[in-house]
Amino acid sequence: MSLQIFGLAVSRGVAIGRAVLVASSRVDVDHYFVEGPAIDAELVRLDTARVTVEGEFEALKRDLPADAPAELAALLDVHLMLVNDEALIGAARQWITERHYNAEWALSAQLEVLARQFDEMNDPYLRERKADLEQVVERLLRSLGHGSPLSSLNGGPGGSPVRPRDFGGEDPLVLVASDISPADMLQFKRSVFTGFVTDVGGKTSHTAIVARSLDIPAVVGARQASSLIRQDDWVIIDGDAGLVIVDPSPIVLEEYRFRQRQSELERERLARLRHTPAVTLDGERIELLANIELPGDAPAAMESGAQGVGLFRSEYLFMNRGGKQPSEDEQYEAYKSVVTAMNGLPVTIRTVDIGADKPMDRMTSHELRHETQLNPALGLRAIRWSLSEPGMFRQQLRAILRASAHGRVRLLIPMLAHLTEIRQTFEVIAQARQQLLDAGHRLGAVEVGAMIEVPAAALMLPTFLRHFDFVSIGTNDLIQYTLAIDRADEAVSHLYDPWHPAILRLVADTIHFSRLGGKSVCVCGEMAGDVAFTEILLAMGLRSFSMHPTQIAAVKQRILRADTRRLASRLHDILASDDPERTAKQAFGATAGALAEA
Ligand code: PEP
Ligand code: MG
Repeated sequence: MSLQIFGLAVSRGVAIGRAVLVASSRVDVDHYFVEGPAIDAELVRLDTARVTVEGEFEALKRDLPADAPAELAALLDVHLMLVNDEALIGAARQWITERHYNAEWALSAQLEVLARQFDEMNDPYLRERKADLEQVVERLLRSLGHGSPLSSLNGGPGGSPVRPRDFGGEDPLVLVASDISPADMLQFKRSVFTGFVTDVGGKTSHTAIVARSLDIPAVVGARQASSLIRQDDWVIIDGDAGLVIVDPSPIVLEEYRFRQRQSELERERLARLRHTPAVTLDGERIELLANIELPGDAPAAMESGAQGVGLFRSEYLFMNRGGKQPSEDEQYEAYKSVVTAMNGLPVTIRTVDIGADKPMDRMTSHELRHETQLNPALGLRAIRWSLSEPGMFRQQLRAILRASAHGRVRLLIPMLAHLTEIRQTFEVIAQARQQLLDAGHRLGAVEVGAMIEVPAAALMLPTFLRHFDFVSIGTNDLIQYTLAIDRADEAVSHLYDPWHPAILRLVADTIHFSRLGGKSVCVCGEMAGDVAFTEILLAMGLRSFSMHPTQIAAVKQRILRADTRRLASRLHDILASDDPERTAKQAFGATAGALAEA
């Protein structure tokens, strides 16, 4: 029967596919597809693991002391029975042969299926057998030499991206998980999935941001999704409405297929605006920049018609490395490759923003909170972490400054809130620069900017304007810290409101006073790429927007239809309103009407 699950719409579009459930097994598991002869090899691996574990149980039973309680021997018998059970091993073989899962994935997928059956049992004795099953599967996984979750979604260890071919056609796949760490989302960039659903997460959680950068339909905060959806279920992800439909009826499926085609056409239409300059009706030139996460994103930024990179989130270079930080040379090569790919256009590199919901390893934000019992968003993150690790910070700064020899580099510092932090930051920059000059490096001119993403920074803007060449408003964090709403927490996501009067006031004042002070100002938070905010940001005087490359065309379309003088004339009423969203809709609707008449 069809089932609907509601969550948060975080990445637009419709995805239809079979669910691939990433099990929340207690043991980290590699997930990858196997093909051709590798399928038989995988069956052999599974069987070898089974024989090994069976041998281990038999040895344990044999070596039981004579006075051991009878229950122990009985328990080992249960484990021996389970390790040979067709419901486990036979079904796992089937996942391998039919779905082309690797052995670890097949076992954890089947564990998920059986665990659910155990949960539904009325008999408490039988329900408890679930723990035995988990122990047996864990032993099998250990014997297989398991890896880490999601680490190989793009292919086997060392393999290239593959997708299953020979089973039931080429069904698209969607990923369903309880939570996905930003590090794992990076892997997702090159994977086969056409959409994803998670139980947890907020609209501007980094998981959602990476999904938007991929332009893949996604719903997060869909609470029970990973327990309600089963492996292989047909799933529709409606990324516009925040809806997940499991096992849809043929009529619903057809309707969504139609919508999928419509949004494809819309995208193709928008793509034609790529080379059109972003100029408003009254002749204001608007700068549209790209947000990127990895050097490999630079070609897409160029392709989208971006006039440069407004935010390179360098912390993603630090992830998926087993906690080992990238060397200066590695970073230099990465920054240089972006600068070169952007071919003379400016590249704004933000120093590392590790911490909060972007831990260096693959922890999800929920695991992180659970582990530390503290609030990492208010802790040692971004510039605070960089200043606490001056060696690492200098190294990153040297790598960025060296890249300036190859093009236009701008340096951006995240999360500043104190004058002491500003002073320390400039000291470390000066040290890094001096070290490079002493070593005979040739450096370009590098502007230094600050992110305005803590209310304290917005409220002490004149100090920032005195010290920095430019500012960039990080609305994602500015909203989180002004409204005291954890951006990754779906439980309070309804309160995460970019239209809140306090947010609009802080953003409007930062734009206004930066321009008045003769400093350039950009918005690089998610607000910049959301067409619902294009008019109000223009009305506030914003002339530089930075967003995912995939959002540029839609924002440009709004800009081409806008008249900044008319929009600005409505700003006062909107900012003074108790309900700015409604007032803006009325005011800009009226503006659009006036334009149509003009
Ligand atoms: C922001 O906070 O708005 C921002 C752009 O930075 P991040 O999303 O990486 O924290
Ligand atoms: Mg931020």
